[in-house]
Formats: sequence, C-alpha cells, structure tokens
Amino acid sequence: MSTLLDENTTHTLREGAFGHARALACRECGHEVALGPSYACPECFGPLEVAYDFPTVTREEIAAGPANIWRYKALLPVPSDIEQSPNTEPGFTRLLEAKNLARELGIDRLWVKDDSTNPTNSFKDRVVACALSAARELDAKVFACPSTGNLANAVAAAGARAGMKTVVFIPSNLEQPKQVNSAVYTDRLVAVDGNYDDVNKLASEIAGEEEGWAFVNVNVRPFYAEGSKTLGYEIAEQLGWRLPDQVVIPVASGSQLTKVDKAFRELVALGLVEDKPYRIFGAQATGCSPVSVAYKAGTDAIRPVKPDTIAKSLAIGNPADGIYVLDVCRRSGGAVEDITDDEVRDAIVLLARTEGIFTETAGGTTVGVLKKLVETGQLDTSLETVVINTGHGLKTLDAVSDRVGAAATIAPSYDAFVAANIV
Ligand SMILES: *Cc1c(COP(=O)(O)O)cnc(C)c1O
Ligand SMILES: [Zn+2]
Repeated sequence: MSTLLDENTTHTLREGAFGHARALACRECGHEVALGPSYACPECFGPLEVAYDFPTVTREEIAAGPANIWRYKALLPVPSDIEQSPNTEPGFTRLLEAKNLARELGIDRLWVKDDSTNPTNSFKDRVVACALSAARELDAKVFACPSTGNLANAVAAAGARAGMKTVVFIPSNLEQPKQVNSAVYTDRLVAVDGNYDDVNKLASEIAGEEEGWAFVNVNVRPFYAEGSKTLGYEIAEQLGWRLPDQVVIPVASGSQLTKVDKAFRELVALGLVEDKPYRIFGAQATGCSPVSVAYKAGTDAIRPVKPDTIAKSLAIGNPADGIYVLDVCRRSGGAVEDITDDEVRDAIVLLARTEGIFTETAGGTTVGVLKKLVETGQLDTSLETVVINTGHGLKTLDAVSDRVGAAATIAPSYDAFVAANIV
C-alpha cells in the first residue's frame, strides 16, 4: 500500500487534521488503525471506516453554519478551519416536495432531494470535498480518481480550485458531455480502453507503485465516503429535524446508501432527531444489478457482472459496499430493485414532466425504481418518502434525445402555427 506521508520527509499530521475522527475502524472485525491513507484492515482485509469521538452538537450550531456541507463539519473527518481552504463548497441542495409525481404514483407525501444542483451537477461533489481535505492534510502531491464519469468531473473541478496536480481516469466509451466536463478543468484526463472495473484496478496498481497520490475512492476512500453522510443530515434538517419513513437511493458501489443510513443513526445518537423506524431502498439498472440480484435471491453472495446499461454512473459490476447495502435494506425493512433501460428513459421524462427536474440516467433509475416499488407493493404509499436525484440530465442527453423533441417545425407565420395544431 502506498504512503502519502513520504517517510523521507518531515510531514507530520497537524493537530485536529481530521476533526473529531478518532481512528479508522474495520467494518468486519472492529480493529482500529491510525487515521491515514489506509482502506483495508490489516487483520482481515475488511473495509475501514472513520470512527469518531463526537462532541456535543446542537441544531442551532449547525443552522448557524454555511449553506454547504461544512455546516456539518463537526460530524466529518475535516479540520475545524476547513472553510479557509479552497474547495467547491457543495451541498445544502434543495429538498422539494413533489406533489405532482406523488399524485402520479399514488404516494401520499413525496420529496425529491435534488443533488443535480451541486457545483459539478452530481452528488459526487460532496464526497470529493471531504477527500480533498484528507489529501491536503496527508500532504498528497497528486489528486486523482478512477471514475464512471461524475466523480471525474468533481475531482477535476475541486483539484483545479485547490491548485493541485489532478489526474482523472475514465472508461474511454464514456458519454461525451461527461468527458468534456472533466477535460475543461484538467489537462490530465486519461481515457482507458476498458470498463470501470478495469479502470479501478489500474488505479489501485498506480496507488501501490507511486508515492504521494491520493486516489479519492481508493486509498483515501474512508474519508471520501463520509461525504455522503451529508445527504442524510440535510434530508433530516430540511424536514425540520426529523427522519423520513422511506428513502430510495441509487446504488453503484453502494457507499452512498450505507452512509445515509450511518448519518441517520448518528443524528439519533447525538440527540439531534427522534429515533424512529425508517426503510431504505436501493435502486439499480437491470443491466448492472448485482446487488438487486443478490437481494432477490436472498443471499449475501454478490456475483460480479459485466455492466451493460445506459445508467453508466451506476455501472459498477463489482460493488465494494454491495454486501452492506443488502444488510441496510434488509435490516430496515426496505428492498433493492432494478429496472430496464427503457424504464430508466421513461422515468427521466416522468420526473421532468411532473416536477421540472431534469435528471441523468442514475436519477431515472431511482425514480423508475420508486415507481416499480409502488407497483409491486414493496413501498408503503401512506408513508413519507424521499427519493434522491443524484445527477443532472444534461450529462446524459442521449438517453432521452430520441423520446423528446420539437412538437412541430413550422414556418415563422401565424397560419403555420395554427395549422400545426399544437395547443
Ligand atoms: C456515483 C454515483 C452514484 C452512486 O454512488 P455509490 O456511492 O458508488 O453507490 C449515484 N448517482 C450518481 C449520479 C453517481 O455519479
Ligand atoms: Zn478487520
């Protein structure tokens, strides 16, 4: 495993570099290691997760913070002066009540947490902001990631703002808008002839060979992953400091889903919200649904797949946190479900036409799965439900460009307009 803290230099961690984080703890055996660029347990190879000694935190202190994720800095592995370092300041995105979509689907109360309005138009800005802080504190020389698209956009933008050398690796068949959305921020976009799992393997190899690289979702993954908790904190705060009954969340690696659950449990433990049961549902596209397949088979054994779906931002065939997604969804009384690419396209248009929100294929997957959960009786329509929209439709225009378009092309005359019979 690479060390960011070059043994030949004198860089030492400054006091409070990771806020109130205490250690990295193994999810499997609980073994703790010192905070640093580690991601696998030295005892059992289980994934490491940030553990804290939280201070007392009040709703008022949080509300007095900035309108971005740093309002929750006391609950994240970041220093208390985090706002002084250039970053993209993501988060505190809108939580919209979706009355039209609720009526269409037959749900009593429905909200859309709209993360498409983040700085690079996906939820990835949250995790990257936390990873950037860790990379800085660990004195990393290069900021990098393997990506299915959105992560590369977020890393490239944050790296530019931080003035760091930034390298992003993507599958070469990625949608053009996502490629441009990265390349505009950095000269070091590397297109790899392979799928995401190939790109990820290459990144792990580089992390092992090179000194000083912070791969946001590889060797600083525990810090990166904590950023997703802010989605859960915001949903609770924006509902007036209470938990929803049901949440539907897309699953790629599965990190986001498990961290929203972690966020809810932390808020309860800190006394910031009242404890109550909630159900968490995972959404995948059928063309890459290893977690959904395992859920339906009633097994913990997730069989890796070769992705074949338009939901490229969810196309991780071997999801690192898949097994924990199964645990959260089963334990909470939720489920994991998947839909076809055609249903993804339908759902993108449905959300746009009912709520004026243009989502990418990942959001289409999530809204489409919400619809399917209602139709199959897996979701309780009398309970308050939140669906998370994680990305913006302008990044995946091709998904719906055949379905929508001009109602008519006419000459610039009133007669032609009337003849076209539009309204
Ligand atoms: C990465 C991504 C996800 C899923 O993230 P995981 O934490 O890996 O499950 C969901 N939606 C969008 C748009 C993404 O880019
Ligand atoms: Zn372990």
